Amino acid sequence: MILTYTDDEIQRLDREALRSLQLLRFKKIITQALKTDFYKKKLGGAGIKNAEDITSIDDIKKIPFTTKEDLRNTYPFGLLASSKSDVVRMHASSGTTGKPTVIYQSQNDLDNWTNLTRRSLIATGCTCDDVFQNMMTYGLFTGGIGLHYGAEKLGMFVIPASSGNTKRQFMLMKDFQTTVVHATPSYMLHLFSEIENMGFSPEDFVLKKAMIGAEPHSEEIRRKIESCFSIDAYNSYGLSEMNGPSVAFECTYKCGMHVWEDAYILEIVDRNSLTPLEDGEQGELVLTNLIRESTPIIRYRTRDLTKVVSGKCECGRTARRIDRIFGRTDDMLIINGVNVFPSQIEEVIMKMPEIGNNYRILVRKKGTLDDLIVEMEVGPDIITDDTRDLYQLKERIKDELKASITINPHVEFHEPGQLPVQQGKAIRVVDERGELK
Ligand code: ADP
Ligand code: ZN
Repeated sequence: MILTYTDDEIQRLDREALRSLQLLRFKKIITQALKTDFYKKKLGGAGIKNAEDITSIDDIKKIPFTTKEDLRNTYPFGLLASSKSDVVRMHASSGTTGKPTVIYQSQNDLDNWTNLTRRSLIATGCTCDDVFQNMMTYGLFTGGIGLHYGAEKLGMFVIPASSGNTKRQFMLMKDFQTTVVHATPSYMLHLFSEIENMGFSPEDFVLKKAMIGAEPHSEEIRRKIESCFSIDAYNSYGLSEMNGPSVAFECTYKCGMHVWEDAYILEIVDRNSLTPLEDGEQGELVLTNLIRESTPIIRYRTRDLTKVVSGKCECGRTARRIDRIFGRTDDMLIINGVNVFPSQIEEVIMKMPEIGNNYRILVRKKGTLDDLIVEMEVGPDIITDDTRDLYQLKERIKDELKASITINPHVEFHEPGQLPVQQGKAIRVVDERGELK
């Protein structure tokens, strides 16, 4: 059976046709995976000796998961399924949670990925008339280079600015009339707070859209970014193990991120029992890459928590959508025995108009108990206010946080610009309890 579709058709396939395409690609990936000792063992143990042992996509459930630990243990070349001479590039994760993991791409793999990044930009309404300033770090990290190639393929005017150097970012935005930027949400907020300090004004820019991703952020943060710059901000999700950006992307309806299912098999599993969950139930996202021959990765536990958004998207794309990432399983804090996700805290404080753009969560040991301190920058007008008002604001925030996370936090206010800003992913949590946590 030969299945040839245009990229537009692929995005609108009915579920049955999509599953047939997935099955075809899955078998190819199984063949590739069996070229590695790692998967020969893993798949062999599940009774899969060659691609013909797979007869439906549901057979995936027989295969054990692949974890970040597996990727670390097979470093550097254990998961390479093609010859080294076919590899044209490697990438690595940013190493948020330890030693980075690596992936390899052939030219074919890169073309497939570029196709997805191009498709994602189109889904947000970008066209070849847009000027695209890419503020994500270039290099081993997939965020920068990944979208770069898709933007070029779409014919956008690409400015490969990379991250940092805020003044230069503004200069480029103004002089080249940038219409679309790609950055982390925390950097977008930092940019906004620096416009006037750097001698620019919002009228200097003609920005229309921001692609924001690489770190968890709440709907409140998105709204803040949109209203600060008067733009549309679109959530972009990806991880290096699955290529990088453009695993899932919002379309102009902003109702969850379409997972490009012709390229990835999407599963959500219970984060403790690891059993599959239904659409709408929150659990850990598990992904299988169907389009990368050099580094096949099957049933990868992303450690990211989300759920499938049920129903059809108004844009007509049939790829299922996932909700914004609630957190990573390894981000979860246990404070005096209570599970707390940083996203719960962010949601509360970012709703408050008095609170500025940056915050940080500290956890310390105080005697035998844990102490939670939430530091936040307040807006410039607030800091000069009556101390009684500040006290009342603090009490209000404490009450709202207590209602959400059931723990009594300490709340500390800082002046704008006082809390540290990262060039890449924001570091929101500082856990000083060491081994004791
Ligand atoms: P790591 O941070 O694990 O070293 P990567 O640089 O590949 O590796 O980052 C991928 C991770 O970044 C994802 O697993 C997820 O936790 C986070 N991430 C990426 N995009 C988003 C997003 N839009 N929302 C929330 N988290 C995201
Ligand atoms: Zn859509």
